[in-house]
Amino acid sequence: MTALILDGKELSKISENTIKEKVNELSKHNIKPTLATILVGSDPASETYVKMKRNTCARVGMESIAVELPETTTTEELLNTIRSLNNDKKVHGILLQHPVPDQIDERLCFDAIDIRKDVDGVTCLGFGNMSMGIDAYGSCTPAGIIRLIKHYELKVQGLNAVVVGRSPILGKPMAMMLLNMNATVTICHSRTQNIESIINNADLIVGAVGIPRFIKSEWIKEGAIVIDAGYHPEKCGDIDLDNIENIASAYTPVPGGVGPMTINTLILQTLQSAEKYIMD
Ligand code: NAP
Repeated sequence: MTALILDGKELSKISENTIKEKVNELSKHNIKPTLATILVGSDPASETYVKMKRNTCARVGMESIAVELPETTTTEELLNTIRSLNNDKKVHGILLQHPVPDQIDERLCFDAIDIRKDVDGVTCLGFGNMSMGIDAYGSCTPAGIIRLIKHYELKVQGLNAVVVGRSPILGKPMAMMLLNMNATVTICHSRTQNIESIINNADLIVGAVGIPRFIKSEWIKEGAIVIDAGYHPEKCGDIDLDNIENIASAYTPVPGGVGPMTINTLILQTLQSAEKYIMD
């Protein structure tokens, strides 16, 4: 069996071209989709992620506003920044880069983002709406994965889907999205027992663990759809993808699978927010 490659790099390139055209259209209404990025502290990985997001905005003709706050920022100070961006009519989307320093109540700050500007899909309200099938911006990584699945017209209904990881931005929303597509979903986490046999029963598996090559290729059932959300400096994901093309029916490569879809989904949702703005 030679598996289908779910090429996120290619799909995000195609999507960027469409986004660029739509941004151009909006400029005729004097609207420039604008993403505000908030970076607290100077974590090098976070700095890189924010820079990549801002570069992508620039590539498609969107505006980005960079807010950089010191490591010592308090919850109240960050809340004030978010409130002022909520009230700024030029801003269509707000991204608060995760993680923030320990002294900050991250959940409180995420939830302070106006639901209309929650283009990164991090608020509890957005998660609740999405879970209930009400229109909402999805958390970008799982929403990007769903876009890949739909683009390649993979059938999810009735599949046994196993999501390994239950973080608020990835595992949990991923599980709800797959459930909404009528998969039968199992969520695994650090206290799960017999993980190997659970994975072995999966028709679709999402690795969102944060441990390099944690999921072994020999645990994966022949013909399964394999989605690797992980990315590590050694250029591998959370799944051991050696020989995966001979096991899976379809898989996301690392790099070039899930990663590019995450940023693309962020700018797509920022565009959608700007488009809604002209209809308000
Ligand atoms: P996270 O917040 O650290 O969550 C990791 C999850 O994995 C937790 O739910 C944890 O369970 C579970 N876990 C840890 N050890 C486990 C074990 N031994 N067995 C089973 N489950 C275990 O990480 P995250 O933010 O969701 O990220 C997950 C991965 O996705 C990382 O590799 C990250 O780099 C990647 N990621 C990629 C993108 C992208 O754009 N491509 C975006 C975000 C994240 P507990 O809840 O029990 O602790």
